[in-house]
Amino acid sequence: MTDCLFCKIVAGEIPAEKLYEDDDVLAFWDIAPQAPKHFLVIPKKHITSPADVDAADEKLIGKLMRTGSRIAAENGIGDGFRVIFNNGAKAGQVVFHIHMHVLGGKDRPWPL
Ligand code: 5GP
Ligand code: ZN
Repeated sequence: MTDCLFCKIVAGEIPAEKLYEDDDVLAFWDIAPQAPKHFLVIPKKHITSPADVDAADEKLIGKLMRTGSRIAAENGIGDGFRVIFNNGAKAGQVVFHIHMHVLGGKDRPWPL
């Protein structure tokens, strides 16, 4: 997707503060953190939204969880973090390349 912001980060066309990268996934700090620690984990493959995940992607999406959990632990929030996927503009999705938010570093700051 040539006009996708996160595909451009994957391609190295836009810089990001990377935390981890392999053939499948990329993790980087969020540019506008909503918690003391806030990073994103994305598949390198373009998938638009959670609702677009198909059966062939199930393992890849599981890898987002495993990667995010490991990076959370490496960054001192392994004992308490929140994972969010926004699906659709109504839910606050702004970047239409699926991404897992990982937020932590505060004691239960969230209403849910
Ligand atoms: P959404 O609202 O789509 O679920 O979340 C998009 C997230 O991407 C936001 O938290 C926003 O701060 C982050 N973001 C948007 N543009 C950039 C960017 O260019 N670099 C980084 N590192 N994060 C970004
Ligand atoms: Zn993309």
